[in-house]
Parts: sequence; C-alpha cells; structure tokens
Amino acid sequence: MNTERNDAPAASNFIRNIIDDDNRTGKWGQRVETRFPPEPNGYLHIGHAKSICLNFGVARSYGGVCHLRFDDTNPEKESVEYVESIIDSVRWLGFEWEKDGKEQLYFASDYYEKLYEFAELLIERGKAYVDSQSAEEMRASRGSATEVGTPSRFRDRSMQENLDLFRRMKAGEFQEGEHVLRAKIDMSSPNFNMRDPVIYRIRFAHHYRTGDTWCVYPMYDYTHCISDALENITHSLCTLEFEDHRPLYDWILNELAEAGIFTRPLPQQIEFSRLNLTYAITSKRKLLQLVTEGHVDGWDDPRMPTIVGLRRRGFTPEGIQLFCERIGVTKVDSWIDMSVFEGALRDDLDEKAPRTAAVLDPLKLIIDNFPEGLTEPCSAPVHPHHPEQGVREFPISRELWIEREDYNETPPKGYFRLFPGNKVRLRYGYVIECTGADKDENGNIVAVHCNYFPDSKSGTEGANNYKVKGNIHWVSAADAYPAEVRIYDRLFKEPQPDAGGRDFLEALNPDSKRVVNAYLEPGARHAQPEQRYQFERHGYFVADRVDSKPGRPVFNRIVSLRDSWGKPA
Ligand code: ATP
Ligand code: MG
Repeated sequence: MNTERNDAPAASNFIRNIIDDDNRTGKWGQRVETRFPPEPNGYLHIGHAKSICLNFGVARSYGGVCHLRFDDTNPEKESVEYVESIIDSVRWLGFEWEKDGKEQLYFASDYYEKLYEFAELLIERGKAYVDSQSAEEMRASRGSATEVGTPSRFRDRSMQENLDLFRRMKAGEFQEGEHVLRAKIDMSSPNFNMRDPVIYRIRFAHHYRTGDTWCVYPMYDYTHCISDALENITHSLCTLEFEDHRPLYDWILNELAEAGIFTRPLPQQIEFSRLNLTYAITSKRKLLQLVTEGHVDGWDDPRMPTIVGLRRRGFTPEGIQLFCERIGVTKVDSWIDMSVFEGALRDDLDEKAPRTAAVLDPLKLIIDNFPEGLTEPCSAPVHPHHPEQGVREFPISRELWIEREDYNETPPKGYFRLFPGNKVRLRYGYVIECTGADKDENGNIVAVHCNYFPDSKSGTEGANNYKVKGNIHWVSAADAYPAEVRIYDRLFKEPQPDAGGRDFLEALNPDSKRVVNAYLEPGARHAQPEQRYQFERHGYFVADRVDSKPGRPVFNRIVSLRDSWGKPA
C-alpha cells in the first residue's frame, strides 16, 4: 500500500504552521479535523486530488480525521452516480474517512432540517429577512465596486411577517423566484458577499436523496460553514476564490454562536491556491462538455484528467500523491507544468514497473544463418535495479519483430542501429550484422536481413568479444503476443487551452490517441488488468482495466520514458 510515503515527514507549509500554532496554544486541544467537500455533480479531477491529498494528508499526519462530505444542495445537478464515483476515487487515491471504527461520511442534505431551523432562528433574531424583489431588482440594487448597495424595500419587514413568509415558502405556497431569504448584514459593505446574501431560494426540484421533501434549498455559503460547525471541523481548507466569502462564513457561525447553537472556537476557513495544470482542463463543466459532445470516450477516457481517467490511463495513487507533495500548498495562484505531473509518475513507476519488450511499429528481421525451426532461450532481469525480482524468459528464433525506426538504409550521422554492414546487439540475445532489406514494388521496406554470431550471446563469455554501439529490442515473431496498444498523448496541444475565455475545443490535440497493433514479449499475454510495465525504450504501459480480456490484455501508454513534449522529434 501507499502508507510508507505518507508516514514520511511532510513538507512544512503555511497550513501546517497554523495547525502547529493551534496545537501550541491548545486552541482545539490537539484535535485536527478537516473535510473534503465535493459537490456530487461530476467526476473528481486532478485539481480535487490536490485538495484530497491536502485535507486527508494533514488529518493523517496529525492523527486526526478528514470527513468526506457531499456538499449536495443543488438538486438539479446531483446524482448517486456521482456520489459513488467520488467515494471510489477517494478510496483509490489511498484515503479513508474512518475514526474509531465509525465512518465519517456526511451529506449536507442530511442537515436540511437543522439548516432550516437555524434560518428561522436568524429571522427571529432579526438577522435574516424575506426579500420579494425580482431578480433584476436585486441585481440592480446590489451596487457595484464603487457604489454601495441599496437596501431592499422589504428589508424592514417585521420578524413575524418574515417567519410567516419563510414558512409558506417551505410549504410550497410560492413560485420559484417569488421570494428569497437573505441574511441581514450590510448593504454598504465593500465586500459584495456581505451585502445581504441570499441564503435560501425556492426550487421545485427533485433531490437525489431527499426527493420532493423540500422546495426551499439553502445556498452554498450558508450550508458550508454550518456543516463544518455541526461536524466539529477545526480547519476548513478551501481554494482561494472563497477568500472573499470568509467574512460571511465567520458572520453566520458567529450569529449562531451568539444564539447559543455553536460553541467557540468556531471552525476556521483557510484558503490555498487551486491547481492549474497545463495541457489539461479542471472545470467540471468543460469536462462534461468533452464527454457529452463525444470528444473523448467517456469520463474514464484515459486522456481525461478525471481520477477515473487517470486510473484507467495507468497513473498510480502514489504517483499522484507524490505530485501533490511536490507542488505543495501556497496562497499564490499559478500554473503547474504537466511535465511535473508526468515526472512524478515516472519516478514512481520506474521503481515498481517490471520491464518487458514491446515492438510498437513492427518490421520483420530475418536472421538468415539462424537454423529454421530452432528456438534458443534468452533471459533478462524483471527489473534492472531489483535482481531479487528474478528474470523473465523468452525465445529467440529466425524471424523477429523489431521497431521500424531501428533500420535506416541511409543512416544519418550518429545512427548506430541497423543499416547494411553495421553490427548491433539484439538486447539479451546475439550480435547481428545487417546485410540488407527486402522492398515491395513501391520501395517500402518489408523485411530486414542479417546474420548472427552464435558465440556472442548475452551472458556468455563470448559476448565480451563484440563491441557494438547499437542495442535494439526485439520479439520472436512466432512467439510474440500480438496486442492492441493505445498510444495516448496529451489531450490538448496548447498549455492553457481555456485561457482568456477561448474555445478550448480548438486546442484539442488530434493525435492524442493512436491505436497500434504491437508485438509484445510472450509473458505480457498474462498481464492482469491494471498491471503496469515499462516497455523498454518506450515508456510505461498498463493493461487496460476495462477492455482487457483474460489472456488478451489491451495496453494503454501511461507516459513515455522521457519528457520529449514540444521538443523536435
Ligand atoms: P468545478 O469548478 O470544476 O465545478 P468545484 O470547486 O466546484 O469544481 P467541488 O466539488 O465543489 O468542485 O470541489 C470540492 C473541493 O475540491 C473544494 O474544496 C474545492 O475547493 C476543491 N477543488 C476543486 N478544484 C480544485 C483545484 N483545481 N485545485 C485545488 N482544489 C480544488
Ligand atoms: Mg464547488
């Protein structure tokens, strides 16, 4: 499992500093409770992974707990399908939400009763009122950055009238948009969020959990802080766009503390910068568009930055965690380059992926002096840094598959692979000397010919008598496993596909998926779904978890061996 890396001391950051201070002053005793609060309106993506690693990671390293809470107050967009996939993704990333044997899994919709009750309390305390202005009137009276807002003509309704109207809103007596409930704060605040924000609206919508019980739904800002307080969250970590909402968060909790509902200290909201990753998109709405318009093959398309897509692509939870550790948390919004993500993956995979040979663009190689019908066993380490993992065995025979690019009739300077008259080593096999190639009527090369040196086999004494510069991989034609291999690349060809409100679809990389018929080392036939390999000289690959059949795995390229993106080939 992935506990080792998590138990390593985590890099310090400003959030840990706040927690350390709190622990020093004893603000929360030594309690650390965080939460990850997704809205179940889509699949999680790599941006969420940052928040997950942070929230669960902080809780874990301080011996606390992180709640998984579904922030489900928008009935129209939410569903059980999303809830289930989110639960799955967080688990797969390596996190748990148990404490003392109890699951800390929550739904904001479970708080509807309480949220409603507290809203009545705010009304009774003169801190909320029913506004009956039209949406346009409300917008117009909000003011601007330079002008204060204008109080609604309904702002001074009596407490009794407010209570009556709010109850009738709940009872379904009004149309959507006829009334809203607003917190009574300050229409002249420089902060828009404090200009009497709406905290309840009427929606005749079916909720995936509460059905048709409710026709008034609480707003995000109102719900979130109260959910935190009800769950005794200590540190409520969110992204920077909520910085301006913090005064409202504090105002609501403070009012409810004044009313005797919550005790102090109250949960503290702390903002950090969201992850922006180049060559990717992290907006659920845009990801949805990619799926519904068929630009990708579903949410788990291996090119998607969704957790289900990354998983199917072959990314590891540990690689994703390593990436999140490396980027750290700050308060400054910035772009992280995709190569940093891919680098973390390579670092993780290099250590764990067994090696195998794969010919992705096959060209026949015929060893003319190799006896027909003969096969010789060859062997290679499963992992070059881990001899304890043993060796893998595969045969060599007269006809092999090699990479098309490993033969070049008119080699450029510095080309050490196959061309007539040149010698190379067949990796873990023999040294051969190229004698020429067969062509079809159009001049395309259809087979390369060579002779081998029977005393040059790798691992034998004779091998040392041959000094060659080229070393190429191969598989025996009669024994190879012919497999479908999907060569995935970045989904977008531009680093910031949606920058400046541009149409991100125009930046789609037309070559992000290429399917090839490859020949693999015979052992690859037995790969289980999600088994990962390094295909020597190519990169890291995984047996697709959806389309692989027993004995017939299909492979996805996770990432190439080196970062060659944007550089000339
Ligand atoms: P989107 O804008 O794509 O709909 P969201 O922020 O509305 O995303 P939520 O389900 O509300 O999605 O997010 C759950 C948590 O994940 C929030 O705390 C949010 O701040 C965090 N989060 C979302 N996107 C990112 C990101 N790119 N980087 C870091 N944290 C993120
Ligand atoms: Mg959100």
